[in-house]
Amino acid sequence: MRQNIANILVVPATNLNGRGLTAYSSIIAGVPYQVYSAGYFKLSVMIHESSHSMDAYALRDVTQSLGYPAGTDYSSTKNFQGAWQKDSAIVTKYASTNWAENFAEVGQYLGVPNIVIPGGVETGKYGDGWKKVANQMGNFQARLESLIFPNPSSGQCTFKVPTTPAIHYGSERRVPQHPGDVNLHKPL
Ligand SMILES: [Zn+2]
Repeated sequence: MRQNIANILVVPATNLNGRGLTAYSSIIAGVPYQVYSAGYFKLSVMIHESSHSMDAYALRDVTQSLGYPAGTDYSSTKNFQGAWQKDSAIVTKYASTNWAENFAEVGQYLGVPNIVIPGGVETGKYGDGWKKVANQMGNFQARLESLIFPNPSSGQCTFKVPTTPAIHYGSERRVPQHPGDVNLHKPL
C-alpha cells in the first residue's frame, strides 16, 4: 500500500488548529499523503488510513472505467455499495460513519487480513463473523490484492508514487531560537 502514498508525516502534536489530531489521509496536488500523531502511528491505523488512499487514489482508474468522474472515491460507486447491499452486517460501528470509513474499516479488519493471513479468514480460525460481510471483504480483495501485492512471488513493489519535495520555511517563518543558541545570521 505504501507505494501508492507520496508522503507520510508523523508529528508530535496531539491537536491541529484546535482540533484533536489522530491520523488522516488526503490528496494534495494529485497525490496521497497521510499525517499521524505519534500515538496513532501503528500498523492497524496505517492499514485503515492506507485503505483510504487506495479508495481515493489507487482505484481511480477502476472508478473512472465504471463511468464515474475523476475524484470519485471507489467506495462511492455502485460496485462497492452493491457488495454492501448483499451483506447482512458492517464491519464495525465506526464503519457506519460514511462510505469512505466503511471501506477503510473493511480494509483494516478483513480485506487486508484476508490477503495476508495464510489461508485467509475462511479457515474459520478467527470465527465466522466475516461471513456477514463476505461480499464487502471479497470486493475489497478482488479490487486491491493485485495492486497491494503487484509482484507476490518476489514480495517487491513495482513502483512508488514520488515523494514530494520538503517545504522550506522562509526566514520570516523561522522557529524562534532557544536562549543560548548561536545565531549564525547575526552580522559579525
Ligand atoms: Zn478513516
